[in-house]
Amino acid sequence: MSEHEPGPVSRVQWEAWRRKSIPPVEDLGGGLWSIPVPLPLEALRYVLVYALELPDGVAVIDAGWDTAEAWDALTAGLGAAGFGVADVRAVLVTHIHPDHYGLAHRIREESGAWIGLHPADAALLEVRYDDVDTLIEDNRVLLERIGTPDEQARASMGMRRFVSVARPDRLIEDGRRLDLRGWDLRAVWTPGHSPGHLCFTDPGRGLLFSGDHVLPKITPNISMHPQQRANPLQDFFDSLRRVAGLDVREVLPAHEYRFADLPGRVAHLLEHHEERLEEIEKALRERPGADCWRISSRLTWSRPWASFDTHSKRAATGETLAHMLLLEQRGRLVRSGGRPERWWPPELLPGTL
Ligand SMILES: [Zn+2]
Ligand SMILES: [Zn+2]
Repeated sequence: MSEHEPGPVSRVQWEAWRRKSIPPVEDLGGGLWSIPVPLPLEALRYVLVYALELPDGVAVIDAGWDTAEAWDALTAGLGAAGFGVADVRAVLVTHIHPDHYGLAHRIREESGAWIGLHPADAALLEVRYDDVDTLIEDNRVLLERIGTPDEQARASMGMRRFVSVARPDRLIEDGRRLDLRGWDLRAVWTPGHSPGHLCFTDPGRGLLFSGDHVLPKITPNISMHPQQRANPLQDFFDSLRRVAGLDVREVLPAHEYRFADLPGRVAHLLEHHEERLEEIEKALRERPGADCWRISSRLTWSRPWASFDTHSKRAATGETLAHMLLLEQRGRLVRSGGRPERWWPPELLPGTL
């Protein structure tokens, strides 16, 4: 384990993660349970749902993907904690990605629990329900802007249909104290990975439920796409600094394993992105006037660019664009407004002395 990788706080959970298996349901004490729920995603394998005991039932943080296997694991996990699904009173969702939000509607159907979400992610659901055509058109324009080759742009959009996703019952604003008896749980708005990402903290217990915002090993995907804010990477940096300033003894993430050194992990994530920003700036000094797709294809990735399928190339280019927008904000890059947009370090822009 390198100095940048925070130590686990649960040996059994960490060892399961290392063996690439699903960790056990764990009683974390004080009425708190960790329930791993399997995902149909090989890289992540499971989402960690947290169950918080209440005087009259239980609240959960995140819900899992909407599959039969996930449902069975969730109900079995609640059972191990001494609850049935009908006992769930609240579903607090960190963000609308399907591994977190997918099963919220089914829990509500069986229990009458309320579902809480930040308004910025709730607004994205509205667009996905009511205005899918606009979303598809926005996506097409973005693909042109970034210089997506025609054959890649024509490939199926693979737009997820959120047909079974429920609208939230309560909107949870930044700083809101959740109404959960026996807990002092507060919402911390942490945009970046998604516009309405929420972490939850219980200051008395020194806990941070970090969702996908801070994970011990994975760098969360920070990508520009039509359902993002103007500068997601700057948002992410601000959100990282924000949680690093909280008094946190233990981080309870939605994937991988629980860990302790939050400021160390935040520092490492910031450093990782600064290195990426430097690499992108260097690539543009070598190819001034290139579009985002072309720069993306030249960067180092976990696998060779040529081995990426269309979806992965688009996702990777969305990440590159998020970095380029931050460089633009810092005055390190400028762009033309054409289709595709072309990017320059300011001193290399044609016509400047
Ligand atoms: Zn996510
Ligand atoms: Zn996730």
